[in-house]
Amino acid sequence: MFNFDELIRNYIKREEHPKKIGRYYPSEIGGCLRKTWFSYKHPKEPEADLLKIFEIGNIVHEFVVDVLKSEKNPEVELLSAEEPFSIKMKDFIISGRIDDLILVKSSNKKVLVEVKSISDINTVKDAKPQHKMQLQLYMFATKIRNGTILYIDKKNLRSKVFTIPYDESAALYALERFSLLHKHLIEDTPPPPEGKMDPKKSWMCQYCEYKDECDKIDGVKINGKNKKN
Ligand code: SF4
Repeated sequence: MFNFDELIRNYIKREEHPKKIGRYYPSEIGGCLRKTWFSYKHPKEPEADLLKIFEIGNIVHEFVVDVLKSEKNPEVELLSAEEPFSIKMKDFIISGRIDDLILVKSSNKKVLVEVKSISDINTVKDAKPQHKMQLQLYMFATKIRNGTILYIDKKNLRSKVFTIPYDESAALYALERFSLLHKHLIEDTPPPPEGKMDPKKSWMCQYCEYKDECDKIDGVKINGKNKKN
């Protein structure tokens, strides 16, 4: 009668808006800088399965918004959701949307909430460094120094919340990384392959759509074989 998979595919298909050098996003600065660089230099259309994963993230966030603004939860008030923000640097702009801002009534404190949907909450022992970096930027930009990362399991809605203390040096470090990214993009030189160099980021290479291009630059396979002489 009808093919629902196809309807979903049509529904979540994104209009192409290639990223522009000079406009950057907080979610992309904590990962491998070279991968982010490739995403500007050689954009690839995300695969349908990846778009579905993004969509699940959106659905989970809509659910979180409903929970936060529900009258059944008077201890918190949702002040804003998906609020745009930007940081203007000398020759580029960092912009994005902040998931949620809530007021915690017991302490009368405004708290930023960054929502991350994940496959298995049991694997989350601490907030991930790239998510902390993103949140530090939000705290820096909004001057709201209370930040949390909420991880929520896509299959059972179990959650964990981590409070992240504001650290100005971490926010400034993130800004430095944007400057470095911008410099490499302007000069058309690839940044170091952080996924290959930093054991804490090596998992990123496994899911990287630029593996082949990256190996070509270094002449090095990710597992260390086939090194260029
Ligand atoms: S393969 Fe690894 S090091 Fe290379 S761009 Fe991808 S994530 Fe970065």
